[in-house]
Amino acid sequence: MDFKLSEEDLELKQMARELAEKRLYPIAEEMDEKGETPEELIKECAELGYMGFTVPEEYGGLGMSATSFMGVLEEICAAAAGFGIMLSVHNSLCCEIIKLYGTEDQKKKYLPEMAAGEKIGAYCITEPDAGTDVASLSTHAVDKGDYYELNGTKTYVTNGAFAKVFIVFAKTDPDAGGRGISTFIVDADSEGLTVGKAERKCGMKCSDTRELSFSDVKVPKENLLGEPGGGFKMAVSILNSGRIGVSFQSIGIAQAAFNEALKYSKERVQFGKPIAAFQAIQFKLADMATKIDAGRLLAYRAAMLKDAGEPCHREASMAKMFCSEMANFVANEAVQIHGGYGYIKEYPVERYFRDARVTMLYEGTSEAQRMVVSRDLLRE
Ligand SMILES: Cc1cc2nc3c(=O)[nH]c(=O)nc-3n(C[C@H](O)[C@H](O)[C@H](O)COP(=O)(O)OP(=O)(O)OC[C@H]3O[C@@H](n4cnc5c(N)ncnc54)[C@H](O)[C@@H]3O)c2cc1C
Repeated sequence: MDFKLSEEDLELKQMARELAEKRLYPIAEEMDEKGETPEELIKECAELGYMGFTVPEEYGGLGMSATSFMGVLEEICAAAAGFGIMLSVHNSLCCEIIKLYGTEDQKKKYLPEMAAGEKIGAYCITEPDAGTDVASLSTHAVDKGDYYELNGTKTYVTNGAFAKVFIVFAKTDPDAGGRGISTFIVDADSEGLTVGKAERKCGMKCSDTRELSFSDVKVPKENLLGEPGGGFKMAVSILNSGRIGVSFQSIGIAQAAFNEALKYSKERVQFGKPIAAFQAIQFKLADMATKIDAGRLLAYRAAMLKDAGEPCHREASMAKMFCSEMANFVANEAVQIHGGYGYIKEYPVERYFRDARVTMLYEGTSEAQRMVVSRDLLRE
């Protein structure tokens, strides 16, 4: 495969780096402390087209490829990964699912406002008792003629506090397991929808994470996405986009942690020499840089396969598994190279270390990725 990025993609990535360095990085620590996503930053991103990166131009988006968006996401996550998740969930999951499975009316109704950043998306699969085992979810929607009546609880909903469009997976046929799951577009102002308190997290603190509950919420029939019972297949296919997104979040965090470690290793003097003069530190840097490159290659392969319309289920899971574990390795080594200073908040590696952890959990844990990859290998 040709991994060369186009001139346009490189330019967009460079612009994103400038935005990240000027606007995001200087306030990343403050956003982490406060646990907030500033509204004006979302507006700035919307003006640059980042809220509808892969949405077709006819629906108000930039109409760019997933590969192009991933380059931008990496830069944003290198500065403030918690902010990057907001973009990732909105674009790679919510806009993507409507773009791929929505009717013409649904696309016209939702995509332009989403691409303009006026309506942010949230993606709701996980429940208190249904995580990896998605097919066991218990939120249910009953056909009432003109509408579905939705009841249940979703947890860990990213963007939950300010999202205006919720993509909700619910059982329409409770006895049919995964084949009984359907997907709905639920408006935030629907009566009976309650947004819970913010979760207090270890990392990615400026990203908003909430519980949502649905009590007799009336969802109009025209808000069913795709066919009744098609939700599980849809979730699996969209997860590929999400997993490629998490791969690039991880690469962004790892690259930022590596850059800090490299810089620090040249500055910190012990035994009369910069610590970079010691082979133990040099080998750490070599391992970190090699793993980042390997992750980036895996992740671009998956993104480019997706853009080419080719199957990328195994490749997306391989990339997500490798990149998230790589980011944890690199961030941990970056702390080690900083010694005690790496453990205190004055140095950003402390934040990268905390932010990296969740990449092995969401959009399917590392164990779930290994299940996907091994099943695919054994099927051959
Ligand atoms: C910050 C954050 C943001 C999130 N955002 C969203 C969001 O926007 N929308 C959303 O729907 N969800 C979201 N999630 C939820 C996330 O996707 C789930 O946490 C994840 O899928 C794992 O589910 P679980 O937490 O219930 O773990 P469980 O499924 O209970 O797993 C617990 C452990 O058991 C392992 N395990 C489970 N089954 C098996 C098996 N068959 N074989 C081997 N090991 C297994 C897991 O790998 C894990 O180690 C978010 C989570 C976090 C932390």
